[in-house]
Amino acid sequence: MKIGFVGLGNMGLPMALNLIKAGHQVTGFDLVKSQLDAFAAAGGIVAVDANATAKDVDVLISMLPASRHVERLYLGDTGLLANANPKTLLIDCSTISPKVAQTVAAAAKAKSFVMIDAPVSGGTAGAQAGTLTFMVGGDASAVECARPLLEKMGKNIFHAGTNGAGQTVKVCNNMMLGIQMLGTSEALRLGIANGMDPKVLSDIMSKSSGRNWALELYNPCPGVMENVPSSKGYAGGFGVDLMLKDLGLAVENAENLDASVPLGKLAQQLYETHSKAGNGQLDFSSVFNLKK
Ligand code: NAD
Repeated sequence: MKIGFVGLGNMGLPMALNLIKAGHQVTGFDLVKSQLDAFAAAGGIVAVDANATAKDVDVLISMLPASRHVERLYLGDTGLLANANPKTLLIDCSTISPKVAQTVAAAAKAKSFVMIDAPVSGGTAGAQAGTLTFMVGGDASAVECARPLLEKMGKNIFHAGTNGAGQTVKVCNNMMLGIQMLGTSEALRLGIANGMDPKVLSDIMSKSSGRNWALELYNPCPGVMENVPSSKGYAGGFGVDLMLKDLGLAVENAENLDASVPLGKLAQQLYETHSKAGNGQLDFSSVFNLKK
């Protein structure tokens, strides 16, 4: 299969490399040269711009930071919908607003494209290992068509519902994750203040009722676990500003629906304080170091 891939960042690059490893021809584009160099070194074909990735491909995948990047890629006179072949299956894996996902999918449908939203969970480690969870919104037939390809990048492929439903699940999941990372950091800090070894504390809590993903697989305290951002100076991983974006999506979504998310709002404020202190590009587990 011939695949176009736009957005070769922390997540997009390893996802695209797994498609190359699976024997597909992948043409990619990113704004950052070092990402393009790494992509080319692994056998990817570098395109001159985003529209060029969609030339003569069966599937176009995008993995961009936020809603505005996705709108800009697909919509308008210079966007993909105006320039690509409508036979191309469009898969947006970025985490964006459910409403924007619905708007872009409707615009795609009006031009006879089939489009699905397929945001992911599992972090950069999951992207590298090909074990991501995909939360997919769109017609069942489109999801089944995409499934064999998504299985080259992920282990669990869930059909959440119609267009935008994948994003709704993702927004709920990441609001819970942001809150859990704060709670886990707070509990670890309290234990350490009492003189506890954070590894002993983590081992015990991981087998107790406080267990959660942040504690067990992505521990925010440096030195407790190998190969997680906290043990690499909080480099790579999932940025504070991306978590802040997702909490913003959750709070905005809740406000539109008159749903109550007081902890989501508090988490948003705390990550914002942490970002403003100059930590926006660090992994979100660096919130362990949030100053009082
Ligand atoms: P990232 O910032 O590392 O990568 C995004 C890439 O998109 C960058 O390399 C950037 O140069 C590129 N880009 C931006 N505009 C572009 C354009 N017009 N054309 C081509 N490339 C463009 O972000 P990431 O961590 O890879 O995350 C991507 C998406 O996945 C985000 O929506 C994020 O919320 C979501 N996500 C991230 C993680 C994670 O652990 N990092 C996990 C799950 C979901």
